[in-house]
Amino acid sequence: TRAISLRDVTKIYPRDVVAVNRLSLDISPGEFVVLLGPSGCGKTTVLRMIAGLEDITSGELLLDGELANAVPPGERQLAMVFQHYALYPNMTGQQNISFPLKIESPGRDTTNQVRETARLLGIEDLLDRLPAQLSGGERQRVAMGRAIVRRPSAFLLDEPLSNLDAKLRTRLRAEIATLTRHLGVTTVYVTHDQAEAMSLGDRVAVMRDGVIQQIGPAREVYQRPENVFVAAFVGTPRINLLRAAVHAPLDGRLNIDFGTQRIQLPQPLSPDHQMLRVQMGREITVGLRSEAARIASPQEMRPTEALLNGVVQHVEFQGHESLVHVSTGAHPARVEG
Ligand code: ADP
Ligand code: MG
Repeated sequence: TRAISLRDVTKIYPRDVVAVNRLSLDISPGEFVVLLGPSGCGKTTVLRMIAGLEDITSGELLLDGELANAVPPGERQLAMVFQHYALYPNMTGQQNISFPLKIESPGRDTTNQVRETARLLGIEDLLDRLPAQLSGGERQRVAMGRAIVRRPSAFLLDEPLSNLDAKLRTRLRAEIATLTRHLGVTTVYVTHDQAEAMSLGDRVAVMRDGVIQQIGPAREVYQRPENVFVAAFVGTPRINLLRAAVHAPLDGRLNIDFGTQRIQLPQPLSPDHQMLRVQMGREITVGLRSEAARIASPQEMRPTEALLNGVVQHVEFQGHESLVHVSTGAHPARVEG
């Protein structure tokens, strides 16, 4: 299992398309890092550069601390699984999985290695079947088997679940997490699905336009987004973003105007929030996660709460909870992307 580092890596495709822009990232041996971002933000390009399938325009790729920009793909000991699992249609599961081993040493008996891999993935029963006789999820498992059979020192997964239905996606993502942890192998996992990213990675790197916006544990990215893009991209339901103006009264408790309503924050500002002082009197964007708000009458207010009046527009029943849409008269902030 290996360390993967990108230092100031840029990728410019023909016609001056800047796909990755001075990206730096250090991945520790055995770590599971998710690259998350909207389509076209450069995720696949990053993976392909790590794999050696795409030249690096400038910057450095280090594998275990060694400069690897020019190391041929076959010598990197990395396995890549793509969104479109390309299994050989005329080969059985057994033959597909053993293929990388046969290429290495044609005469070798691979039965045991393939069986062990199949056991890890729970596909022992599928080894005799052709890809056409497998469901999407089964095919993706066979493709994973083919990738891990050589015990690569790192695992690169490019949206491996995006062709599967929602139920299977949820199940397989848990399996992938368990499997890679069991193998203890460094994994870089690319997805545009924030729920998938949140549930999988030790760390999540949120990308936009070829630039990492924030990297950290999922919880941190969710609770302390570094900018409005990250706040809006991560989390279901989408965070409420409201335009507001801030004013500081004498006791240090912040006043925030939402449209015509003024609320006073129940506590004085913590040092964390000192940065807000710079923006006093200016328009700001307030991000409010739905679970941080509750519906209550003014009499039910707790001392730690602030009251924002609103009218319930619509209640969305979701089984274990309900999502209540409330109009407060405040202006929603616009977010790009
Ligand atoms: P993602 O995987 O996040 O969807 P990609 O890495 O595939 O993003 O693409 C990043 C950007 O680079 C996009 O603007 C895409 O159109 C462009 N791009 C990707 N591959 C090529 C290529 N082979 N030639 C030219 N432009 C490309
Ligand atoms: Mg992609």
